[in-house]
Amino acid sequence: MTETAVKTASSIVPAPRLRVQAMKEYHPPLGSRDALRLDFNENTLACSPKVREVLGSISAGALTRYPEREPVEAIVAAHLRLAPEQVALTNGVDEAIHVLFEAFLEAGDELLLPVPTYTMYEVYASATDARVVTVQAGDDLQFPFEPLLTAITPKTKLIAIANPNSPSGSAATREQLLQIAQRAPHAVLLVDEAYFHFHGETVIDLVGTLSNLVVARTFSKAYGLAGLRLGVLAGPVEVMRWIRRVLSPYSVNSLALACLPPALEDEAYIDWYVSEVLAARAEFEAALDQVKLRRWPSRANFVLVDVGSRHAEFVHMMRSAGVLVRDRSNDPGCDGRVRITIGTREQMQQAIVALNNAVVALNLKAEAR
Ligand code: PMP
Repeated sequence: MTETAVKTASSIVPAPRLRVQAMKEYHPPLGSRDALRLDFNENTLACSPKVREVLGSISAGALTRYPEREPVEAIVAAHLRLAPEQVALTNGVDEAIHVLFEAFLEAGDELLLPVPTYTMYEVYASATDARVVTVQAGDDLQFPFEPLLTAITPKTKLIAIANPNSPSGSAATREQLLQIAQRAPHAVLLVDEAYFHFHGETVIDLVGTLSNLVVARTFSKAYGLAGLRLGVLAGPVEVMRWIRRVLSPYSVNSLALACLPPALEDEAYIDWYVSEVLAARAEFEAALDQVKLRRWPSRANFVLVDVGSRHAEFVHMMRSAGVLVRDRSNDPGCDGRVRITIGTREQMQQAIVALNNAVVALNLKAEAR
């Protein structure tokens, strides 16, 4: 490979804002993923064929136009039984989180997070002047409901809860979420339902009835459209008005907008994919039990597994067998734990073979007890 010389500026490079200098760096391992992708909780197969059809029919002329999101927002709102003004489409839920935090968090505010949880909450919070207050889950990694209630203060401005949560796979109940929203009327409660389809429970029907509840949904998981970057943020009209001020009107591209209606319409595809994953999850959990590795009950399309101190070698061995999994050892309270996405039953059979080989080779059974 020939090296391209990078020209270095001779003058002093301007420094970014102090806040940006203090931002957490996050580099997801997205390189060289030509294997069985059980590392990012994506759909491991494909999106609906109806979406593929629409993608193939997009004309060059259509691409010359700026995207118009409102008509598609109305379709999504109808699907969610909400008013169009209660719904905003975003460039993935990541943009929704970014925009929500930008709109609401400032110096003196507290962002309340049960941890371990989705990494990007802390990343985007670190771009604001707010303080992040974390509430550690116990050894069972269940939602830390009581400690979270206790941690609410007059300064709490935002509470972000992934439900189901990643990497634990555990979920808060509707009653718990309601109580949190009511205990913190001065704060926005974000319930991130990225894994909704695998869980089947939602609080999106409460949007508008509670003044501070905002719900996020993504098309990156069950729908299989992570590459298109599509998310939905739903909340009370007053909150969404602020969100729209911060949100770029162009951030959801026209390919994504064109694909969204057929993705929503093809419910049979989602039902099939979800039932396939749930069946595969049960089989994979049984395989984990067979080799006596500790796992946490999951309401999503992944399982967290304790492989002990040889976690890095385990991930490496799985990769050598063509199976990508994600080391979560750096997450709070997750040392030695690896998150494994659930794909189809056929894919998980390949994963089970790789798992069994790694367990024997690394003598994990004895090690992780
Ligand atoms: N929220 C949670 C809890 C997630 O796990 C993820 C993806 N890993 C996201 C949001 C991001 O979703 P998107 O691809 O729509 O940005």
